[in-house]
Amino acid sequence: MALRTGLQYLESLRGRRLDARYRGERLTEPVDHPFVGPAIRSVAATYDLAHDPAYAELATAVTPDGERVNRFTHIHRSTDDLVLKVKLQRVLGRLTGSCFQRCVGWDALNALYITTYEMDAELGTSYHGRLRDFLRHVQSGDLVCQGAMTDVKGDRSARPGAQADPDLYLRVVDRAKDHIVVRGAKAHQTGALASHEIIVMPTLALRPGEEDYAVSFAVPSTAPGLTFIVGRQASDLRSEYDPPLDHGNARFGGHEALTVFKDVVVPMERVFMLGEVAYSGRLVERFAGFHRQSYGGCKAGIGDVLIGAAALAAEANGVAGASHVRDKLVEMVHLNETIYSCGLACSAEGREMPSGSYYIHGLLANVCKQNVTRIPYEMARLAQDLAGGLVCTLPSARDLEDPETGPLLRKYLAGAPGVATEDRLRVLRLIENITLGRGAVGYLPESLHGAGSPQAQRVVIGREAPLEEYKRAARLLAGIAARD
Ligand code: SF4
Repeated sequence: MALRTGLQYLESLRGRRLDARYRGERLTEPVDHPFVGPAIRSVAATYDLAHDPAYAELATAVTPDGERVNRFTHIHRSTDDLVLKVKLQRVLGRLTGSCFQRCVGWDALNALYITTYEMDAELGTSYHGRLRDFLRHVQSGDLVCQGAMTDVKGDRSARPGAQADPDLYLRVVDRAKDHIVVRGAKAHQTGALASHEIIVMPTLALRPGEEDYAVSFAVPSTAPGLTFIVGRQASDLRSEYDPPLDHGNARFGGHEALTVFKDVVVPMERVFMLGEVAYSGRLVERFAGFHRQSYGGCKAGIGDVLIGAAALAAEANGVAGASHVRDKLVEMVHLNETIYSCGLACSAEGREMPSGSYYIHGLLANVCKQNVTRIPYEMARLAQDLAGGLVCTLPSARDLEDPETGPLLRKYLAGAPGVATEDRLRVLRLIENITLGRGAVGYLPESLHGAGSPQAQRVVIGREAPLEEYKRAARLLAGIAARD
């Protein structure tokens, strides 16, 4: 099996001639683009880590066939694997301060591994074998997969078939013996231009009569009929027009795209669900469960960076010793470790599935994600509090370079002795990036809506919480006679 380096991965993305657009223009070489390039470099970090002696064990895994693969292509074989996943995600979140994008496809592979096994066992289909063949292709090429679940959904009060335009949910528009043809669009596609393959799944639990929407498959990102329309991010033009100091995090970033499928042909050997509506909900829930676990790792890693930046800002402001400052940093650590603890807990409490792979503890994974919908916002508030108002009124790095205004800025924006003014500005820009700028996409709204918006977790928590057990325990202690 190949274990690619980051550089080899970057080279593998060149010359693909994707139909990719950004701000009204065609993106010919995303790797070299000032806005998309840093996002692709975040994914490259998942490759380089596999060659870093300090992290190689964590960043790789051994398959049942004895092959060492990048962990991002691994099927979890134990609760240890689930725990290591979250630890790896924290390391990468800390390293990049960004969404490193490769987890979505990983979670899709693991969700499909479980669900296709069940379909074959219960229905006599042959999806699991196809999925295993696809998995071998991904592992041997050390590929990145985009996990495509979220349909654009149109009128949320209407079912897929009742939409004014039936393409608002991705669907099968033609079937032949050896292939299907699909049409539709998937929104918010993390890592779209950084991926070699796209794994498509349904977006919700479907009902009889909605068979055309119950479809899962994989296509290469280069498949004819695909268009990627990259989303804007706050301050994105700084990547193109401003000096690196103004980016806050000039090395890394994330990106998302609307991925449009215009009558894309999918060979049958790459189809993993075709009309089995009863299994669509299971697949959605498994994928969501895995990705809600993932957030316990990656967001804690970005939180590490934000805590560090807040502490540096406090030092630059000369207030590091103040008790309320120390207390705010303690609060940030407490909040951040709460997220991480949930990620670890739902992993350690995972269980083996009939497929032989492992799945997280559903209730705990949803509690993890529910915390993630809130905690990063409070972390951002505390970081901005510690940074001071300059975090949002800072002049441009070009003014710092200007012979007239540069000396003025160095004089009037100086902080505590021993801290270079420029370093003070760098740290404030980093806080700005994570809490207001392009890094905020991955740290804030993505924490809210990614892997399902808050209400989706509350539905699962309400369903999975053993309320009757809790009531029995309360009755026992209160001396209330049992009803059953
Ligand atoms: Fe990975 Fe987190 Fe980005 Fe999801 S949001 S792809 S878990 S880094």
